[in-house]
Amino acid sequence: MVQCEMCGNEVASPKKMKIEGAVLNVCQDCSKFGVEINTSPVQKQKTKYSTYNSNDNVEGPTNKKKIPKKTYHRLGEMDMEFNEKIRRARELRGISQGELAGEINEKASFIKKLERGEVLPDEKVRKKLEKNLKINLLESDVE
Ligand SMILES: [Zn+2]
Repeated sequence: MVQCEMCGNEVASPKKMKIEGAVLNVCQDCSKFGVEINTSPVQKQKTKYSTYNSNDNVEGPTNKKKIPKKTYHRLGEMDMEFNEKIRRARELRGISQGELAGEINEKASFIKKLERGEVLPDEKVRKKLEKNLKINLLESDVE
């Protein structure tokens, strides 16, 4: 048995209907909503769209500079925390994002994004950060 995606009733052979622009598997009863698109009282709003908007022109050829938030779960714990590590280490040194940026020849806005976890440092930047902040971004808690 499958669940009707409109009403939730169990249905043996669901009908594929285009409803509100989305294709849903629905029961016999609900399939009528497929034709009455604008008057359907039951609407299942599916928000599959991420609110993340990437700038189109940032993609580098070799590195993964820009990674949408929704893919973070693939990165493992240490990558989830790299931004925290950078921020903590920088604050430990008592320098601002701008100062850190200057020391490793990056833009302050880039550091800001790094610390917010919006971008990942590529190999080159990572090494600069590790050297400058005396941290290890690849392995957790290894000095
Ligand atoms: Zn139904």
